[in-house]
Amino acid sequence: MSILRRFVHCFFCLGVIIFNADVLAQDKPAIAIVIDDMGYDNALGQRAIDLPGALTFSFLPYAPFTPELAENAFSHGKEVLAHIPMQSFEPKKLGKDGLTWAMDKNELTQKLITQIAEVPHAIGVNNHMGSLLTQDRESMQWVVAALQGSTTEGLFFLDSRTTKYTVVETVALESGLATARRDIFFDHTDDEHAIKEQFESLVSLAKEKGFAIGIGHPKSKTLKVLFEVLNQLDDYGVVLVPISQRWVRKAPNT
Ligand SMILES: [Zn+2]
Repeated sequence: MSILRRFVHCFFCLGVIIFNADVLAQDKPAIAIVIDDMGYDNALGQRAIDLPGALTFSFLPYAPFTPELAENAFSHGKEVLAHIPMQSFEPKKLGKDGLTWAMDKNELTQKLITQIAEVPHAIGVNNHMGSLLTQDRESMQWVVAALQGSTTEGLFFLDSRTTKYTVVETVALESGLATARRDIFFDHTDDEHAIKEQFESLVSLAKEKGFAIGIGHPKSKTLKVLFEVLNQLDDYGVVLVPISQRWVRKAPNT
């Protein structure tokens, strides 16, 4: 089935879903790659930005090298996201302004907006951790409303999918906010062979459904494998596109 036919199929299955027009222009399966947790290691961050092609970089708002590296990514024509810490079930430290279930709407909105402002050129967000918070419909409604109000067109919400019970995509689509979901994590196992296998799973998924989104981290082995495979994309039969070409949005009142 051609990619265009797949999208038409989705159109009838899900109601009026708006796809970024650039996606429809692709005649090859497409992948998007996001490197998140950016901002703590300057050298690895710079190495990530130097990877070939239209990768997207997501920065932790208060990390020491975030302002410099985000400017750098932007000046290299890469897209930038804010990587927003959200409460997980595991007792992990969230850091300053991390969003928790205990916050009311005002506090959560204020902290989210303050964090986004720390990341220059952010066109959207994705969640850092968040296995607890992304399951909470009310909290996600507040996040989505804040993202919609942040800019004229609203900021895009990429769901990192740290839990299968996430409601991010549902809430975003209900509210008409542009959204997308992570399909594959590259480097849960910090091993070159495992990372390459995860990349190949991303390619297979893209060939199956037309596109797929992978998330990796600025770690030495991940960057080494990505450098190799990104130089062989023609052989893999996929194209790399920026994250802004991956979102979907449901038209209002449908
Ligand atoms: Zn993260």
